[in-house]
Amino acid sequence: MKKFKKVYVEITSVCNLSCSFCPPTERKARLMKVEEFSHILDQIKPHTNYIYLHVKGEPLLHPKMDEFLKISEEKGFKVNITTNGTLINKRANKLLDKQALRQINFSLHSFDGNETMENRDEYLTNIISFVREIEASGVIVSFRLWNLDKNNLSNAEKQRNRKTLEIIEREFNLPYRMEEKVVPGDGIKIADNIYINMDHEFEWPSLSAPEDDGKGFCYGLRSQAGVLVDGTVIPCCLDGEGVINLGNIYEKEFSEIVEGERATNLYNGFSRREAVEELCRKCGFRKKFGT
Ligand code: SF4
Ligand code: SF4
Repeated sequence: MKKFKKVYVEITSVCNLSCSFCPPTERKARLMKVEEFSHILDQIKPHTNYIYLHVKGEPLLHPKMDEFLKISEEKGFKVNITTNGTLINKRANKLLDKQALRQINFSLHSFDGNETMENRDEYLTNIISFVREIEASGVIVSFRLWNLDKNNLSNAEKQRNRKTLEIIEREFNLPYRMEEKVVPGDGIKIADNIYINMDHEFEWPSLSAPEDDGKGFCYGLRSQAGVLVDGTVIPCCLDGEGVINLGNIYEKEFSEIVEGERATNLYNGFSRREAVEELCRKCGFRKKFGT
């Protein structure tokens, strides 16, 4: 029986923003039904206790978030949510006092990725007020700034986030400028259970990207798997279009899907340090783990 550290469950494919670095999905706009969510959790239960409620789409757009968290608790799951944070005021009461909630990541880089967003102070203050409310509950909070330029880590580049960092430093009474502490990919603890995480800009793999020699390794289907809102099972959170369609969880058992032919070929390929799937040969994530 395959065990995963986490399974991504996409509860909606819809997003209320259009970040410059995030190609909009070509899949149908859809919200997951409560019964579908419950079915998926039963299917993946033997494989993991940790779920992440997104692949593409903004999870806080889903009006049934409180029910999802309740069901997750009943079925013994811990939940991570990654959100752009724009709807936090509207949805706060659906998140507070939910035992299943383990971590919330706020993608603060989404502010600078959208020309339509104007009031940085208001955006961040809303998020920080929510964080204050949830602080004592032990939920982990990560403020993500995944927008560093890969080729340029000069001071000028790091300054890009100055306005955002200034507000955070002010609100958390930090006695230092955060740029001084930045190590891309690493988190900085700024209070109990609260972290800042800066990293290079994230690139979604795409079939139209150039292909390399296909050597390398990836944890897709080793430590993680995903289920898109229409039930398509994917090997990782980066297959946002469901290119590596391993089967549909509404038609077939999840346990069978992750042991199926396509899944097994991908898995065995990476054991030989070889990317069998075309999308994997065009995915920068694989190179991160070296050969
Ligand atoms: S990066 Fe997140 S917030 Fe931005 S458009 Fe994509 S899904 Fe939406
Ligand atoms: S190489 Fe990329 S696309 Fe392939 S499984 Fe890994 S993360 Fe997913």
